[in-house]
Amino acid sequence: MSADCLFCKIVAGEIPADVVHETETTLAFRDIDPKAPVHVLVVPRAHHPNVAALAAGAPGLAAEVLATAAAVAEAEGLTGSGYRTLFNTGPDAGQTVFHVHAHVLGGHPLGGMA
Ligand code: IMP
Repeated sequence: MSADCLFCKIVAGEIPADVVHETETTLAFRDIDPKAPVHVLVVPRAHHPNVAALAAGAPGLAAEVLATAAAVAEAEGLTGSGYRTLFNTGPDAGQTVFHVHAHVLGGHPLGGMA
């Protein structure tokens, strides 16, 4: 756990979250400010600041985050219509929480990439 990390506090149960899926190593909860009808964040329980650090330091855990994202999409009924999984990395991408998280977005047409 990293001090003053919002998502570490959610993982620890210190801040409430609308959890939709969990595994031994990952947690998935609804985004507090959804950008699509389905907007779920998937985090590893362990603190890594971004996806590059996660992939370099714990590649197996990176795969588990992706597997949880796929399980969330399945559970939310998105696999037929499609969905987007994305990681923001750094300020230019708009990353605001520096505990790696996959956004799982879907439920309506998402349009092209910016
Ligand atoms: P980022 O911009 O890629 O870092 O995404 C951070 C996301 O966390 C944003 O979509 C926020 O709406 C979301 N968020 C911030 N605080 C909370 C919270 O307490 N619970 C759930 N989602 C949050």
